[in-house]
Amino acid sequence: MLGLMQQRPLLLSSLIEYAERYHGETEIVSRLLDGTIHRSTYRQVAARARRLAGALRRLGVGYGDRVATLAWNSFRHLELYFGVTGAGSVLHTVNPRLFPEQIHYIIDHAEGGYVFFDLSFIELVEELAPRLPHVRGYVALCERHEMPAVKVPNLLCYEDLLAAENEEYDWPEFDENSASTLCYTSGTTGNPKGVLYSHRSQMLHTFVAMAADVMAVSARDSIMLIVPLFHANAWGLPFAAAATGAKLVLPGMRLDSESIYTLMRDEGCTLAGGIPTIWLNLFTWIEQNRERLNLSDIKLTRVLSGGTAVPRSTIEKFQTLFGTYLLHAWGMTETSPIATMGSLLPKHAGYDLQARYDVQALQGRSIIGCEVRLVDDAGKELPRDGQTVGELQVRGPWVISGYFKGEGGQVVDQDGWFRTGDVAAITPDGYVQITDRAKDVVKSGGEWIGSIEIENLAVAHPAVHEAAVIAARHPKWQERPLLLIHPKPGAVVTKDEMLQFLSGKIVKWWMPDDVVIVDALPHTATGKLLKTKLRQDYGDWLERHSVDARAQA
Ligand code: ADP
Repeated sequence: MLGLMQQRPLLLSSLIEYAERYHGETEIVSRLLDGTIHRSTYRQVAARARRLAGALRRLGVGYGDRVATLAWNSFRHLELYFGVTGAGSVLHTVNPRLFPEQIHYIIDHAEGGYVFFDLSFIELVEELAPRLPHVRGYVALCERHEMPAVKVPNLLCYEDLLAAENEEYDWPEFDENSASTLCYTSGTTGNPKGVLYSHRSQMLHTFVAMAADVMAVSARDSIMLIVPLFHANAWGLPFAAAATGAKLVLPGMRLDSESIYTLMRDEGCTLAGGIPTIWLNLFTWIEQNRERLNLSDIKLTRVLSGGTAVPRSTIEKFQTLFGTYLLHAWGMTETSPIATMGSLLPKHAGYDLQARYDVQALQGRSIIGCEVRLVDDAGKELPRDGQTVGELQVRGPWVISGYFKGEGGQVVDQDGWFRTGDVAAITPDGYVQITDRAKDVVKSGGEWIGSIEIENLAVAHPAVHEAAVIAARHPKWQERPLLLIHPKPGAVVTKDEMLQFLSGKIVKWWMPDDVVIVDALPHTATGKLLKTKLRQDYGDWLERHSVDARAQA
């Protein structure tokens, strides 16, 4: 027997309609490319998103057609989020930090009809345009008087397009399983692959994202969106913000620590989302400018950190400097992205802070709607005992079922489990601990050494800005960990000091065989350590330097 409730489709347009009606005056604050602050409201964003939908129709962009963006976090990009999807077209957010060749591949593969771009990407667009036969036009995200002299076919002005439309547009109703946004994984190896979200998957993700034990988003929040709108739906924060009427603060392209700090302070941000590199830089900057800062101006109650493991020292700094709870999350572009979230259980209430940081350093617990499990090489499920390590798998209504255009073939098994490529343990309480990406694991004499834990310990050293552990080839043990250290500006640290610092904190056979001090560490376009490059450059380090691990340990 079927239930007798209404089959209203779950559509993203309902979010902006809600925000407009019930939180119309709530501000959307953007830092523009020239550094000035722009203030808009949900009412304005909603009205302009409707104008945009009208403009798309006039341009011949239809249901399911892709619209690409090359843009930073700003009110116009937010309007595209709602305008394009609400109209039934597919918003394809392109990561402009990728190599031009990858960007070209992605836009071409997605067959986008139009590219909306920020003025900081003029040269990129000019370079790509001659090789993008599907693209019918390029829309500059600016006013008429700011229009650049770009040599691309059919150059249009965003504000002109909107001015030509009116606000009277009714969001269409269609199947909630329709595609809404498209985001490519960065593909450190091979071509990037498209993850195609649906209205339904994103609405369900939004409902869960708002929950108290997930991000606890509310109308009282002012959310600083440091995570880019082009990275996995900015972790769902824009949708959760509209669904609750939370204020949104969009930092544009200015992601230096001073700009972030002042914006967070001036806009009373209570929640911020970003990757650990952002936080590492922020705390290094705060240390250098401590005397002139009044840290009590920062009102953050929680920060959301994901993308790579967040060091325990960062968790501690947020707590001690600002009284901010760091919510450590794990997910992937393929999981919309939230899969686990680092909220506490009643039993943690009595924990002292040090013990609590240990819990927060784990990658968070399963949330309703997204199942996780561990399996061994043969696909057999492993126990959740906090010790056994295996491959992490996920399934749920906002987990990928296959990549766009079938790339990569069958990526889920017959029961719907998606192989994440991450190696993890799960505690009896359900907290996931990521020890490595499968391809980054150090396999020493048949045993696995998790690079993430060593990196986290290393960055707790006061002179260390960032650390990376890679597998270096070893004549006897096949692979041994090599620690690379990027010190803080002006700080000096030696190999012996680092080894001494780690000694006693990890088991002896996990101790890195050597420590290399470097000027900088390479990152991927999504801010992860680029370990493929490090392995290329340093994979033979131990062979070249014939360091004897055991002699040192
Ligand atoms: P990419 O496009 O680089 O794949 P994703 O954001 O999709 O970007 O990357 C997902 C991967 O990032 C995960 O499979 C995992 O390896 C890593 N990751 C995400 N969050 C965490 C975390 N909290 N701790 C450790 N690794 C993480």
